[in-house]
Amino acid sequence: MRTPFIAGNWKMNLDRTGAVALSKAIAQATLPEGVEVGICPPTVYLGDCLAETDGSPVGVGGQDMHFEPNGAFTGETSGDMLVDIGCRYVILGHSERRQFFGETDASVNKKLMVALEKGLIPIVCVGELLEQREAGQTQQVVQEQVEGSLAGLTPEQVAQIVIAYEPVWAIGTGKVATPEQAEEVHADLRSLLESRYNTESSSKVRIQYGGSVKPGNAEELLAQPNIDGALVGGASLQAESFLAIIEAAQATR
Ligand code: PEP
Repeated sequence: MRTPFIAGNWKMNLDRTGAVALSKAIAQATLPEGVEVGICPPTVYLGDCLAETDGSPVGVGGQDMHFEPNGAFTGETSGDMLVDIGCRYVILGHSERRQFFGETDASVNKKLMVALEKGLIPIVCVGELLEQREAGQTQQVVQEQVEGSLAGLTPEQVAQIVIAYEPVWAIGTGKVATPEQAEEVHADLRSLLESRYNTESSSKVRIQYGGSVKPGNAEELLAQPNIDGALVGGASLQAESFLAIIEAAQATR
């Protein structure tokens, strides 16, 4: 039985007051049993959010990291630094990083190795563009991203990761994949992991769906057998909607 995992990706949103208030509201809410909850604030507010969530079950994560531990990499944050301040998660390979910052499967792979070595739980994002879906290439694109990003991992390491399937055409657009469309990709991904690693490891990997998840569509998505949570952008910026998605995850258990 996989514990559903709802994570909020705040991207480059909110100011300090807003980040503190949001993390406080989530940490102080009565969270349902059996759902893992994480928030990924902008890097500059990580410390504030960690302070607000301290002692609560809410974990905090970075939105990206560098694979080197330190050095002359202006503007970057290392995995060691995330661990040092108390982060539990790190998002890797988000489509916005792939699209705007040159992230590739190869760089995700380097970061993933380091994240696992440091004890961070990586959320590895994959997903197809609209034109790729329309050309019938979804399965191939997503499989290539997973194979490239996870290259060299042992079955034991694979069991520790979280994959977020995020069709790029559904991110921030209000267009959500139907539960059937999402489940088809999630089931394919699990079969791929099973064939590359083994049944035990593949059955442990949590595969989140991401792309315009809202309180109104969360339950039917999360009820799918291979959808083990959600990576939530827009709807994670307000406590009410984020908490409603967490409740929906609990309702489907
Ligand atoms: C995301 O950024 O990972 C995301 C899924 O965003 P949204 O929920 O706003 O589509």
